[in-house]
Amino acid sequence: MDKKSILIVEDEAQISRFLQLELEHENYACTICGDGREALNIALATDFDLIILDVMLPSLNGIEVLRRLRQSKQTPVIILTARDQVVDKVTGLDIGANDYMTKPFAIEELLARIRLHTKNSAVVSDNMVCGKLSVNPEARVATYAGHPIDLTKKEFDLLLYLMQHRNVVVSRETLLDEVWGFAFYGSTNVVDVYIRYLRAKIDNTFNVEIIETVRGAGYVIR
Ligand code: CA
Repeated sequence: MDKKSILIVEDEAQISRFLQLELEHENYACTICGDGREALNIALATDFDLIILDVMLPSLNGIEVLRRLRQSKQTPVIILTARDQVVDKVTGLDIGANDYMTKPFAIEELLARIRLHTKNSAVVSDNMVCGKLSVNPEARVATYAGHPIDLTKKEFDLLLYLMQHRNVVVSRETLLDEVWGFAFYGSTNVVDVYIRYLRAKIDNTFNVEIIETVRGAGYVIR
């Protein structure tokens, strides 16, 4: 299989060198660029599997690079920056970043997010299957033993996230963060409420126990 290609847009040589070493170790092909305008040109001219994008860059900042890139390309972008203010995250995600990480970052987490976003672009229409439960992220359809499950948008997002992390116990805080987003300042009770909705529509309807509660830890689909 061809190596997945990643464009690293980062003007701090120490960080880009570190990322390059880590990513090449994971068998990605890396291109490095430390200048915003130059990075935009490279990103427009080449089809990368993913772009890691710093915000504070010479000549053109990362937000502007992304804004211009999105006018013509949907390459997955993870913004990686020291700026951790909510307004930056909102701006970045609003203009089409697929993900957002702040420095300092854990390389394992970045690698996991890279896997997630490069996988999504490669196998877009694959069903995720757990027993008789099947979820198609592209068509946004969920079925149990072939029977369609009628879900609202949030219910589907929650189910999808749990399926993407099946066999992993996910905390309420993580679910709130990932499914409702950082802009949602509610309590984690909303997670419990939606888990109940899902159970009513899946577990109760088909008389199974798909979504497991792990006391004090969160929820898991196995
Ligand atoms: Ca920078």
